[in-house]
Amino acid sequence: MSIISIENLTKCYKTKKALSDVSLQINEGELFGLLGVNGAGKTTLIKILCLLSKKTSGSVVINGFDIERDAEKIKEIIAVSPQETAIANNLTVKENLEFFANIYSKNNSEIINELINDFDLSSVLSQKAKTLSGGYKRRLSIAVAIISKPKILFLDEPTLGLDVFSRRELWQIIKKLQKSTTIILTSHYLEEIENLCQRVAILSKGKLVKVGSIQEIKEATGANTFEDAFIKLLSEGENE
Ligand code: ATP
Repeated sequence: MSIISIENLTKCYKTKKALSDVSLQINEGELFGLLGVNGAGKTTLIKILCLLSKKTSGSVVINGFDIERDAEKIKEIIAVSPQETAIANNLTVKENLEFFANIYSKNNSEIINELINDFDLSSVLSQKAKTLSGGYKRRLSIAVAIISKPKILFLDEPTLGLDVFSRRELWQIIKKLQKSTTIILTSHYLEEIENLCQRVAILSKGKLVKVGSIQEIKEATGANTFEDAFIKLLSEGENE
């Protein structure tokens, strides 16, 4: 069953068309990837779905709610972990968790302990966020994003700039999160998309080029690897 239904979505910034007639269904419980080169429209799409930017035309329905008419209801069920981490730098890790837990008035100690455990944060609890390594900053940023127990979580380039070990540790955390949340993530790392996502949408210059599982996309393009399939699809777009 689709939890996000996008029909003919278009977004223009003045004269720039960042999204053009995009139609896409994302299923409940899916870990769904958005892929494309710089400027393809991934962040624009995420911003619209997170209510941070307004569409120009088309329709978006999230969990049965219209993105414009029912924006307040949608806000209650989504969370976003943006590219630039959304944590309070001068607070410690524990204080960050407490601060965000208080905003959502959740059973603080229970949820905080759960997050410390799931995100393996116990060794850095008393460290100020600004002194954390990139990997721990991302973990904390995702941890505070899910304090509200969202039905849908958006992760914009969750492992950008992380070393291979931190990246793989974060993949394990993201895989665990999928058990309770639909996740939509953007990434430039094809390996990451292959490892994590059940299905992926490839965008190029604001247009949807392909949607499907990694296997389906490889088969449709006749490519042996996902990277070859990706390059082939984008090169075909260039020639149109
Ligand atoms: P990246 O991988 O570099 O983050 P992206 O796929 O997320 O790229 P977007 O950031 O969505 O791409 O940008 C899509 C297009 O819209 C680009 O051409 C970009 O320059 C343009 N764009 C994005 N935001 C704005 C804005 N606020 N005003 C004008 N143009 C914008």
